Amino acid sequence: MGDQAPPTLEQLARQRLLREEDLTISILEGLPVGLFQEMFQEAFNDRRTNILRAMVSAWPFPDLSVRSLIKDSDLETLKALLDGLDVLITDKVHPRRSKLRVLDLTGVDHDFWRIKAETHEDDCSPQAERQEQPVEVSPNSGVKKRFKVVIDLGLIKTRFNQCDWYLLQWAQQRNDSIHVCCRTLKLWDSPVFAAVQIFKMINLDCILELILSHWSLEFMVQLFPYLEQMRKLHTLELVGIREPLRSTASAEQEWISMLLSQISRFPCLQNLSVHHTYFLTGCLEKWLRCLKTPLKTLSIAGCRLSQSDLDYLSQCLNIRELNHLNLSGVELSDSCPKLLGVLLERISSTLQTLELEECEMRDCHFNAILPSLSQCSQLTVVSFCNNNISLSVLKNLLRHTAKLSKLIYEKYPAPLECYEGLRILKDKFELLCPEMLDIIRAERQPKKVSFCTRTCLNCFHCCFYNLEVRLFCLCP
Ligand SMILES: [Zn+2]
Ligand SMILES: [Zn+2]
Repeated sequence: MGDQAPPTLEQLARQRLLREEDLTISILEGLPVGLFQEMFQEAFNDRRTNILRAMVSAWPFPDLSVRSLIKDSDLETLKALLDGLDVLITDKVHPRRSKLRVLDLTGVDHDFWRIKAETHEDDCSPQAERQEQPVEVSPNSGVKKRFKVVIDLGLIKTRFNQCDWYLLQWAQQRNDSIHVCCRTLKLWDSPVFAAVQIFKMINLDCILELILSHWSLEFMVQLFPYLEQMRKLHTLELVGIREPLRSTASAEQEWISMLLSQISRFPCLQNLSVHHTYFLTGCLEKWLRCLKTPLKTLSIAGCRLSQSDLDYLSQCLNIRELNHLNLSGVELSDSCPKLLGVLLERISSTLQTLELEECEMRDCHFNAILPSLSQCSQLTVVSFCNNNISLSVLKNLLRHTAKLSKLIYEKYPAPLECYEGLRILKDKFELLCPEMLDIIRAERQPKKVSFCTRTCLNCFHCCFYNLEVRLFCLCP
């Protein structure tokens, strides 16, 4: 709006430097360290590949971390970064001030980029990549590698994205100097041979997070010899695992046992997600019993759980330190309402996020969890959308959550009073929402709170109400 502050002298200097590439590259060696970080960010945003290349090879910190903005279209930017590293590898010119050892291309950070000059949460080799020391001992070759490139990889069927593939090829050709450190690996409905091809290109003991999506059980078991080598895995996500096409019941049972035994062999597993997967029903106890360490996250979404599963869940020791619980899409309508209350009570001192969307919960379930919910004083996120709750019970729920002072994000279902058969009573919804917000406001100022109806079966939209936005279904 024209009221922006005028650029500072430093910004003007940086802009000038970016425009004059040759000049900038020639003075990089003498550039004050404090200017590097912001210059790099601006060069990155402007895709000044020549400057990026030169800055990487003159980088005055041990780590350079770039959030994964490098999508397919940014192959040129990635090439520039790797070319910069190439200068250091070949030692043709070793810029005096370069301290770079780790190039981090993962998307784990929420900031656009950062420099980890002091702290380092590296799980692969805690002290190794400081200063001039080699970064990694490769488990396969015993060779110490000088540089590490940290990445997340995803394979969809047989396809990599262009950047990932380029990077893997590039690193293969520099196998003596580069350690590719893959932190998150996602394999989406891939053939076994393609998965094995990647396993052979990376160190499996660097992987912290593995997501297997839309695999068929009989093919998934063929990956187990490799999974065994993922000794640092802390997060396992299984999504949409399919029944085998042709198999006997006994073979299938054996594969499931193999899977459980595999899971029991991850010594650091803390986060387990099983979504839309058919074989959890009736054997949750086996799954949770086999874990070596207590879980921090348990997410079971879109799965069917039996009464005995829920029974076990409410007693399970391996979830006593749970931070995150998601049971969205697990039908609880016929379950004993008390179980959920018992479960919450057991984890009340550690629980931070609770997601119970589309669980077919009724008033009796909400009433049963209220006493223990009040004790969950660490909760920052709750989500109860798409459940069946009456206005009076919803108000009571809000009186309880209003007292949870750490909540920053809360989602509630519209009460049953907002429906007439399949029709959503929009006026009623609009009228009730402010009233419900006031219940929270009586105790604290909500940060992010929303109320939502089910999807209207006429127009396929829902009604939504939060502090800023009001949306209504399209029906007249
Ligand atoms: Zn590594
Ligand atoms: Zn509608």
